[in-house]
Amino acid sequence: MAATARVALLTAVLAAAAAFPVTTAPAQAAACNGYVGLTFDDGPSGNTTRLLDALRQNGLRATMFNQGQHAAANPSLVRAQVSAGMWVGNHSYTHPHLTRLSQAQIDSEISRTQQAVGGAGGGTPKLFRPPYGETNATVKSIAARHGLTEIIWHVDSQDWNGASTDAIVQAAARLTNGQIILLHDWPANTLAAIPRIAQTLTARGLCAGMISPQTGRAVAPG
Ligand SMILES: [Zn+2]
Repeated sequence: MAATARVALLTAVLAAAAAFPVTTAPAQAAACNGYVGLTFDDGPSGNTTRLLDALRQNGLRATMFNQGQHAAANPSLVRAQVSAGMWVGNHSYTHPHLTRLSQAQIDSEISRTQQAVGGAGGGTPKLFRPPYGETNATVKSIAARHGLTEIIWHVDSQDWNGASTDAIVQAAARLTNGQIILLHDWPANTLAAIPRIAQTLTARGLCAGMISPQTGRAVAPG
């Protein structure tokens, strides 16, 4: 191609680009009229990498309530959670029914998880979710002793109970400003629901936020 032809082509391309600017703004740049807390329990696992990819591709950040035993077995996945912009919480070490345990056992479940997550590079969790959402004053006070705020949920997606992808998306659509939804690291239907959860939130002006240890509600990241 002659130099003049190349210049003419380049000029045409630039003119076209100016006439049709490519919009590359991510979903996160949309106006946020409120924030919701997406939480994924029981990881990290063999599914975590796919989950993190889906969340990132859809501009979502979430809180990952890790089991300590899984964090200890998969430290690189804990680091991957942090690298993907997620917040890491404590979900006990072995996922027992904490309210049936002694104070020493409860303390061990919580403190070993703090160590496992921290040792993996996940920082020191500030949020704690008791397995099955089962808690009492003893569990709560032991968590508080470790600097943890207990977080349950406002909406249960039922993904742990075989909910369909449609049902999981519909559950997320019920979230209002500040609320938190229970999801899990492992269900295939949850992974499949991620793009549609992102669309649903965006359509309603809601963004995925962090959970405030002070208020226990979803707020702007930062
Ligand atoms: Zn769990």
